[in-house]
Amino acid sequence: MENLFRLVDNQQDSISPRCIWVNGPIIVGAGPSGLATAACLKQQGVPFMILERSNCIASLWQNRTYDRLKLHLPKQFCQLPNFPFPQDFPEYPSKKQFINYLESYAKHFEINPQFDECVSSAKYNENTGLWRVKTKTKTKTVSNQNEIEYICRWLVVATGENAERVVPDFEGLSEFNGEVIHACDYKSGEGFRGKKVLVVGCGNSGMELALDLCNHNASPSIVLRSSVHVLPREMLGRSTFELAVMMMKWLPVWFVDKILLMLAWLVFGNIEKYGIKRPLEGPLELKNTKGKTPVLDIGTLEKIRSGNIKVVPGIKRFCDGFVELVNGEKNEVDAVVLATGYRSNVPFWLKEGEFFSKNGFPKSPFPNGWKGNVGLYAVGFTKRGLSGSSYDAMKIAQDIGQVWKQETKQKKQRISACYRRCISQF
Ligand SMILES: Cc1cc2nc3c(=O)[nH]c(=O)nc-3n(C[C@H](O)[C@H](O)[C@H](O)COP(=O)(O)OP(=O)(O)OC[C@H]3O[C@@H](n4cnc5c(N)ncnc54)[C@H](O)[C@@H]3O)c2cc1C
Repeated sequence: MENLFRLVDNQQDSISPRCIWVNGPIIVGAGPSGLATAACLKQQGVPFMILERSNCIASLWQNRTYDRLKLHLPKQFCQLPNFPFPQDFPEYPSKKQFINYLESYAKHFEINPQFDECVSSAKYNENTGLWRVKTKTKTKTVSNQNEIEYICRWLVVATGENAERVVPDFEGLSEFNGEVIHACDYKSGEGFRGKKVLVVGCGNSGMELALDLCNHNASPSIVLRSSVHVLPREMLGRSTFELAVMMMKWLPVWFVDKILLMLAWLVFGNIEKYGIKRPLEGPLELKNTKGKTPVLDIGTLEKIRSGNIKVVPGIKRFCDGFVELVNGEKNEVDAVVLATGYRSNVPFWLKEGEFFSKNGFPKSPFPNGWKGNVGLYAVGFTKRGLSGSSYDAMKIAQDIGQVWKQETKQKKQRISACYRRCISQF
């Protein structure tokens, strides 16, 4: 090990005051994907370390989601590997139930992340064949520094598709004199009672926030810039997602899309008359080609139909208490909620250009985006939610576990051979 540190010390880059060797992989991020990978590694007998920037597991769910949130997909598609949801959980567990499940998951597999450590850079060193991972800590270390450097052989990126909020650059928004928040800071419609609220973005979050605002007696409008697929969350007594998964086992995507859209039409009728235009591609085709998730309606459409939620076209600019739309309409607005999505933060800290592309997602799409070169892995970048994370986690743990077991066996054989030699000398 001493040699190793000398090797690292000889490199040109500056060395952090604290440098720690990690036996096994480093997992960056303690969300569901990081936890699932850790649990699978544990089952393979591989030690690991998780580095998490916030002070808790699943910080997205604990700190950056709204109160009324439930899992969008039925529970059987959201379970992490080797630990089922409790029997009494409903079909769509609430945010609180899901967090409790994740807490139990971490406890069951004895997963203890290093909290309050944000990975600021990770770089592979070709001379040593190792990864150098630097973190910024909130509190200072023993040597009075707030930077730590780790060295490891494997690096698992589990920082999520939703690591940073996206805030589009709208003309006049910085001078707008009402409240402006991103969906990740929205908790409930309580504080918006009686206000005219513009919800920008009509994905699953935007649609649900508009419904929540409506239920709290606010007057929401939702901005639909181009087009979106809205499907009922349930059809024919089954969850739409489950129905689609079942049909796709037998039928081509384009045909399943046709069936889904026909059923949606039977439930909703023609939604274009409410200002909701459907994309030309079908919902599953769009998901597969562009990763764009269809909205699973849980009551927003009814409020749109009754006129309690207004659908408006794209924004031209904001000005003093007003929003000007692309169709020239000017609407009075008290507050703006930006349900404008999230992005990966990988390009900001991972010094690598082969496996990840510039948008912070692996270049190879699902199911091949979990493994890169030189001990680099990615979990949870499949645009397939928690079931995608579970798939990646199991693959990664098997892959590392195989090497780990082989090397441990060889090491044991070397030690016992040496032991036998020692005995035979007596
Ligand atoms: C509102 C909402 C509802 C959703 N509902 C569903 C659903 O019903 N079903 C489903 O399958 N999916 C759903 N998703 C998708 C969601 O992405 C997953 O549920 C899940 O949270 C992804 O887990 P993850 O671990 O990959 O990412 P995250 O949960 O985002 O976890 C990533 C972790 O990495 C940490 N991190 C980031 N950068 C760093 C860094 N540089 N250093 C150290 N730590 C870092 C973060 O703090 C975070 O704790 C939903 C997403 C949202 C936003």
